[in-house]
Amino acid sequence: MPANKKMLVLPGDGIGPEVMKQVRRVVDWFDKRRAVHFDIKEGLVGGAAIDKLKTPLPDSVLADALATDAVLFGSVGGPQWDTGDFSMKPERAILGLRKELGLFANLRPAMVYEELADASTLKREVVSGLDILILRELTGGVYFGEPRGVTTLADGTKRGVDTQIYTTPEIERIGRVAFELARKRRNKVTSVEKANVMHTGVLWRETMTRLHGEYKDVELEHMYADNCAMQLVRRPKQFDVIVTDNLFGDMLSDLASMLTGSLGMLPSASLGAPDATGGRRALYEPIHGSAPDIAGKDLANPLAQLLSFAMLLRYSFDLKDDADLIEKAAKNVLKSGLRTADIMQPGATKVSTTQMGEALLKELDRLAA
Ligand code: NAD
Repeated sequence: MPANKKMLVLPGDGIGPEVMKQVRRVVDWFDKRRAVHFDIKEGLVGGAAIDKLKTPLPDSVLADALATDAVLFGSVGGPQWDTGDFSMKPERAILGLRKELGLFANLRPAMVYEELADASTLKREVVSGLDILILRELTGGVYFGEPRGVTTLADGTKRGVDTQIYTTPEIERIGRVAFELARKRRNKVTSVEKANVMHTGVLWRETMTRLHGEYKDVELEHMYADNCAMQLVRRPKQFDVIVTDNLFGDMLSDLASMLTGSLGMLPSASLGAPDATGGRRALYEPIHGSAPDIAGKDLANPLAQLLSFAMLLRYSFDLKDDADLIEKAAKNVLKSGLRTADIMQPGATKVSTTQMGEALLKELDRLAA
């Protein structure tokens, strides 16, 4: 009997529940048609949890997240919750989960589907076939370093301070993830910092170079963050895995995602440290937000959420064939000319969120027949 996989599903707000509904249909399809079975719990987070339970991240949801094999997260937020104090913002849910689950590695693939290469603002030949992975350190660096804050000086002027801190263990653990991911891809790591002007950059470069001794089969190159931003726009296909700190990763991953031109297509994963059994805490989510402007209209693209589920199968459950199957189904549906409004092109057929879900199920049936 195949072992059951525990999965916690947190749809959240806005389009989150709409796109998750389509993914749940695909999960059910896998339950019935493949050798994998899921024990699924579902919970409220974000604004939905604030409305019902007066907190963006209920204790029971956190306890479930700590006990599960993988979390599939939708998106949180919306203008109706923008007035509360910071601890009552829907976004506290995702920040709290990242912190409590120790999710230090954020994986953001940027892939360009042949059929959507014209959606990019860059020329087709620059992005066609693009398949890169940005690995961002998520729990350290300037977003967390102390001291931080704004103080008022004696002369009445204000002074804002943020502090960038990295230790060798923090760099080593993200570096290891980078080398290990590269081994499953095209065997190249680009380590990105500002060693020319920052002490943390010097330590980052030294540590990555030393760690490379354990991963000699993988190519390592170093690049300054400003040059990396330029190269991502100039010749993005030179990269395989880019590993960088929290701040540079924040910016470079957004830049890389826009090379693809379609926010509604991009998944992400956040991973914690391996446990004694080799498993890791992990959370998977689309990179888009709750899109309040189109919520409730059956317009959202469910593919980023679906591809997040494919990443979950690949990285948490080691189910490569099943992940490949989902990615192939998504590709074929696009090839057949179906598009949600966000990726609509001349000559294509516009479909709703639900219709896209139905087309995916049909394609999965066809591929598995
Ligand atoms: P957004 O990603 O929600 O939307 C940006 C634009 O992209 C909108 O025009 C939206 O309609 C479109 N879009 C996004 N996803 C789409 C999809 N799947 N299909 C079709 N179109 C899609 O970003 P925003 O507007 O800056 O933020 C809206 C809310 O989401 C805010 O409250 C923000 O804080 C929150 N947010 C949450 C997360 C998260 O939960 N991790 C991430 C980003 C933003």
